[in-house]
Amino acid sequence: MARYSGSVCKLCRREGEKLFLKGERCLSPKCAFERRSYAPGMHGRQAQFRRKESDYALQLRAKQRARRVYGVYERQFRRYFRDAQRQKGLTGLNLLILLETRLDNVVYRLGFASSRAQARQLVQHGHFDANGRKTNVPSFLVKPGDLIAVRDISRGNSYFKELSQNLDGGQVPAWLSLDLPNLAGKVLDLPGRDDVDITLNEQLIVEFYSR
Ligand code: SF4
Repeated sequence: MARYSGSVCKLCRREGEKLFLKGERCLSPKCAFERRSYAPGMHGRQAQFRRKESDYALQLRAKQRARRVYGVYERQFRRYFRDAQRQKGLTGLNLLILLETRLDNVVYRLGFASSRAQARQLVQHGHFDANGRKTNVPSFLVKPGDLIAVRDISRGNSYFKELSQNLDGGQVPAWLSLDLPNLAGKVLDLPGRDDVDITLNEQLIVEFYSR
């Protein structure tokens, strides 16, 4: 599947809610969704008034929303779903846990990046260690006890110098702990449903793939 190269703000407008894909800009008045909160395209405005969406449309939108929030391709998302099905427990929750424990998401949750897209780029550029080993794979799945840290070689980088001065750790979820002086974080536990603070409906995603 080709990489999506269009405006990410259109994705928010298509999903009808802010997905916070652009970091700081999402919290500013420049946010496109604040100015045009209807779907993109010629008929976007009229679509607001169309008849009720079918079950399939709701399931599809729930799946697309989750995929877009975490920046995962369809094939990879489907693979996560299959893995979630194979695990014990609720498939929907397992799926969210798999998505949340991706290394790029953990870097974002620790506050080392202002968006998941930026976190993914920082990881790909080799700025992080996982358990003392350089890890540049955004889809690397962390587990309880893992230590994620900015690499020694990257700490002198102006981005991380500035970050260490501005970071306060206030937003870090309970399943992670932040070691601010060392620009590191520890995975204390697996995330729970309450730790996924976005309006994802995992049940609809399960229904989508169970058709
Ligand atoms: Fe979505 Fe952020 Fe763009 Fe607003 S600025 S439309 S929240 S990506």
